[in-house]
Amino acid sequence: MITYKAILEDYKKNSNFKYCFYYDQSNCSKNIKKAHSVQKNRILNQLEAPVNGNNLIYSFNDFEDEDFKTKGLIPIGKKKASIFTGFCDFHDSKLFSPIENFPFQGTSEQLFLFTYRTFAHGLHQLLETYTYYTSKGDFIKFFPRDYLHQHVKLTRFRIEKLLRYKKILNNHIKLKNYDNIKYHYRIIKPFVPIASSSILAPMYTFKNVYLNPREEYSYLVLNIIPDTTQTIICISQFEEDYKGKIFFDELKTLTDTEFEIAISSLLIYCTTNTFFSPLLWDKFSSEEKQLIFSEIDYCIENGDEIDKFFMSKINFFK
Ligand SMILES: [Zn+2]
Repeated sequence: MITYKAILEDYKKNSNFKYCFYYDQSNCSKNIKKAHSVQKNRILNQLEAPVNGNNLIYSFNDFEDEDFKTKGLIPIGKKKASIFTGFCDFHDSKLFSPIENFPFQGTSEQLFLFTYRTFAHGLHQLLETYTYYTSKGDFIKFFPRDYLHQHVKLTRFRIEKLLRYKKILNNHIKLKNYDNIKYHYRIIKPFVPIASSSILAPMYTFKNVYLNPREEYSYLVLNIIPDTTQTIICISQFEEDYKGKIFFDELKTLTDTEFEIAISSLLIYCTTNTFFSPLLWDKFSSEEKQLIFSEIDYCIENGDEIDKFFMSKINFFK
């Protein structure tokens, strides 16, 4: 039987793409290691909790399904979580030291580095998707030709768009220009054990302003950073991203509760790099867990056809 899980496994096997995102490749080490897009020691550590005797975490990408309906989450080890091959060893350890080895202080440099790595991961995911679509993966032959052709074209188009922002980010890092990106962050207390690093490209803002991706996509960058006694939600906006600006400016005006619901909804609707603790998951009743699964299935099935902001009934930060 074909399941999402089987397709995802085929995808993982056939989408491998390795390179270094940094602009100056003269110092790159030979090795492109599996780097964490969400920090292992500082962040994923805080999400671990025992499941059947092992310290594990959950994500929305590792699940059991049947007839394309989500049935349950599969706990994973932090070693495997969020890894990608988008930086060489040297740049992965050198560039991110200010966020790996120092506490969060909300400096422009730290906010920039979170944005930089999350964006690199988002682009990398698209490069992997393109690699998969053009591979000999087991499921590729089942895709209708037209569908495949359209998706290859769209993925290539989106990669070209993101490459423009890659250039902008690399220019900023070269000149240490960390303030040319706008940041809006809110601190949630007490601590909520959830982390995410994702590029957001919704069709509608929370207040249902249509962003019309036919004209241009939005490229907001989301980072959710659990930080011992608090959790930080940070949105970054490129000056050049005029569609993202519409949503960014609106997000700033939301009340805390609206903001939390907006982020929770986006986590379900359009993020693919979100991790959380079994302790958070276990707080939900079985009805709430079912509701989350049905919301995820609804978003996967309907995606771009949902003609308003997808509003979740769940607030992960409450
Ligand atoms: Zn490198």
